[in-house]
Amino acid sequence: MRRKIAAGNWKMNLTETEARELTSAISDKKIPNDVTVILGCPAPYLSLTQALTKSNKNIHISAQNAHQESKGAYTGEISHNMLSSIGVDHVIIGHSERREYFNESNNLLKKKVEVLIENGFQVIFCCGEPLKVRKSKKHKAYVEKQLKESLFHLSSTQLKNVIIAYEPIWAIGTGVTASPAQAQDMHKYIRSLIRKNYTQKTASELSILYGGSVKPANAKELFGKQDVDGGLVGGASLNAESFNKIIRSF
Ligand code: PEP
Repeated sequence: MRRKIAAGNWKMNLTETEARELTSAISDKKIPNDVTVILGCPAPYLSLTQALTKSNKNIHISAQNAHQESKGAYTGEISHNMLSSIGVDHVIIGHSERREYFNESNNLLKKKVEVLIENGFQVIFCCGEPLKVRKSKKHKAYVEKQLKESLFHLSSTQLKNVIIAYEPIWAIGTGVTASPAQAQDMHKYIRSLIRKNYTQKTASELSILYGGSVKPANAKELFGKQDVDGGLVGGASLNAESFNKIIRSF
């Protein structure tokens, strides 16, 4: 059985007070037993949110990025050693904003994925095409290249620690959502690539999340698709009422 996952990506939002209130409003409500909630928090709040959710087994705290080196002279960066030391065990890697604004290449992401998995993390690996590529109908080849160059060097045992998030860039923060049929089509294709490069078992066990303007109004239909195992949610994860509804949309 694949895990059902509602993951929030807070990006560079919220004050400490807001982060505290949001986390409490999510963890105070009983989360369905078969749903895993992941909160992608800004670095300054990782310890706080970790402490607030410690007793809630359904909630995991995730960093939004980590450096590929374990330590050293990299001003402003965060290492996996630091994250481990505060009990964080998930990291979002390859978000389109990191790729675009911080020039993170497939090759760099490969290194990050590798070092994180070697050090016991679960990686939420983001992929997805820009609008131009979707319009030229080359989106499948585009995403296949991202996966091939950053993920498919992993062994099947290592891949068990990866959650793939398919996030078409044209749907992120735009209010435009991929239709459930478009999401299913892409997720099915991604799963077929896992089957081709690994095994049927590995493919059927890997969770693939959809990201791109997920909200309470569309979550149920998206999550109802056969190969959509949940969502990576930006804007709607910043509001407790919205995110709590999304958590209960499976
Ligand atoms: C995201 O940041 O990963 C995301 C999907 O954002 P939004 O839900 O706001 O489109």
